[in-house]
Amino acid sequence: MKIIKGDKVKVLAGKDKGKTGKVLQVFPQKQRASIEGINLLIKHLRPRRQGEQGQRIEFPAPMNISNLMLVCPKCNKPARVAYKYIELEKEGKKVKNKVRYCKKCDQALS
Ligand SMILES: [Zn+2]
Repeated sequence: MKIIKGDKVKVLAGKDKGKTGKVLQVFPQKQRASIEGINLLIKHLRPRRQGEQGQRIEFPAPMNISNLMLVCPKCNKPARVAYKYIELEKEGKKVKNKVRYCKKCDQALS
């Protein structure tokens, strides 16, 4: 998954095309993510007991991640991300670390 929780993403398709939002949750098996304020659906809940009121709940429906693009926090542009391995020195030993990086500005992302 190239998109993780907390990322800022730009929507490339659908009714909220062009908008940006924060990723609330990712569903790796389904290749989907839900984004704050994007692709909102309204769920109507009927009153269950007498005297209770029905409710409308708005929630962001998960979108396919192929319709999303990460907005790089470093260069602030919609960018492609990739993974690479970097070598780090940890307690005197060389360790390989997998990092996400922005293909536009080449900076490592969290
Ligand atoms: Zn960047």
